[in-house]
Amino acid sequence: MSLAVLASRAVFGLQARQVQVEVHVGSGLPAFSLVGLPGVGVRESRERVRSAILSCGFDFPAGRITANLAPADLPKDSGRFDLPIALGVLLASGQVADGQGGSPDVRHYVLAGELSLTGALVPADSALAIALAVAQDDPQAILVMAPPAAGIAALVPGLRVLAAGSLDEVVAHFAGHSPLPCAMPAPLQDEVDRAPCLGDVRGQALARRALEIAAAGGHSLLMSGPPGVGKSMLAQRLPGLLPPLTQREALEVAAVQGLVQPLRALPGTPPFRAPHHGASRSALVGGGAYPRPGEISLAHHGVLFLDELPEFERRALEALREPLETGQVTVARAAGSCHFPARFQLVAAMNPCPCGWLGHPRQVCRCPQERVARYRSQVSGPLLDRIDLHVALSVEGAWHKTPMGEPSAQIRPRVTAARARQLGRQGCLNAHLDAPALARHADLDVAGQALLARTVEAWGWSARATQRVLRVARTLADLQGESRVGVAALAQAIQFRPDAGPAS
Ligand SMILES: [Zn+2]
Repeated sequence: MSLAVLASRAVFGLQARQVQVEVHVGSGLPAFSLVGLPGVGVRESRERVRSAILSCGFDFPAGRITANLAPADLPKDSGRFDLPIALGVLLASGQVADGQGGSPDVRHYVLAGELSLTGALVPADSALAIALAVAQDDPQAILVMAPPAAGIAALVPGLRVLAAGSLDEVVAHFAGHSPLPCAMPAPLQDEVDRAPCLGDVRGQALARRALEIAAAGGHSLLMSGPPGVGKSMLAQRLPGLLPPLTQREALEVAAVQGLVQPLRALPGTPPFRAPHHGASRSALVGGGAYPRPGEISLAHHGVLFLDELPEFERRALEALREPLETGQVTVARAAGSCHFPARFQLVAAMNPCPCGWLGHPRQVCRCPQERVARYRSQVSGPLLDRIDLHVALSVEGAWHKTPMGEPSAQIRPRVTAARARQLGRQGCLNAHLDAPALARHADLDVAGQALLARTVEAWGWSARATQRVLRVARTLADLQGESRVGVAALAQAIQFRPDAGPAS
């Protein structure tokens, strides 16, 4: 046989499209050419493949070798085509035969893995994205990958995944000498990375309450206050209040995270991402010629914490508005656009003024008024309007006299129960209720209706602001186990609007 055809996958965003790797070995002057829109990473593959083949004790054919990656219009940039190209060279030059001396059956096999110069297989990135696509397209497919990526791929139900450590092992499998073992599904990451406990935070009763409400209803939260009052400490403790990820959520989280780093285990707890305020727009929402997910997608089903909110580039913050509403982000590129999931919970923190000491009982703020106004206007009204809970933290009395807070382990059952109530009633968390569903599920009693009418009138609230208050009130009622939203829940929800605090 002088032609071999093998299957692999090209990853673009979260999509993993089929790529046919055709290798032809013909007579002529020795040459090794690679065609089919290969990126830099693929072009370098020639050197790795040659070296790996020689290191494993095979001959590198002396003739003219052409490897074509089809379809040609699909951009490809990864070392994961090394394995199918190398195996293709060996098959096309007749160096691998099955037990009967014929050419091995490679139908249904999908191969992905970069080769080192010694012939060892490097775990492929994007393992889960590839596995999900392969399982969907061909129920009989057999995926060959290096561990631990193979273990991550094996988490996809019904997909056969074989684990291979080197080119040698793959050749031995196809030659019928020594079949590759099935990959063991990767373990669930245990609770070791469980977020720190809320019991460590002293005082700040209102902010702790806001954090519990945010956890229970999936609400976004903005904390403002001088440095050192515990804004970051509180934010870091939100994931510890959330229930563990379901299997489906964990797979979604792993598929996105696997695009930027190889995973060893399935994440069990909601992710917590805290990008620096110097992060660019594409670092935050995703981008790049080969689109990579941004922080908002890496925080999918978890928490995105933006400390020093007004210090972020305004353009980057504005890009959060759409994903906050839709739970996904679209990255448009010349080669096509792709979507990343971004159902994250936003927790933001800001100082009251650039120096941070405005309103502090002992420190003096010397920021001119215009600078304070400019600082606050860095965060646009429409973005602030999309944040459900606003809470102002202030400096409290002597630290050692302030009582320790309630530990996360005691709060989590209340959060879990409130979430179960919401999912049972409406199939989603209160923060994600659309207007008609909100009208159905957050009906106020007579006293509540009167209070709402008075408040809307007094503060001139938009329909959006009113709905945010109702969603928070619905969560407060769920935390209390009440089926109807009472006036007490509504009154509490109103105090978390920006109009009620200095965050506006
Ligand atoms: Zn100041």
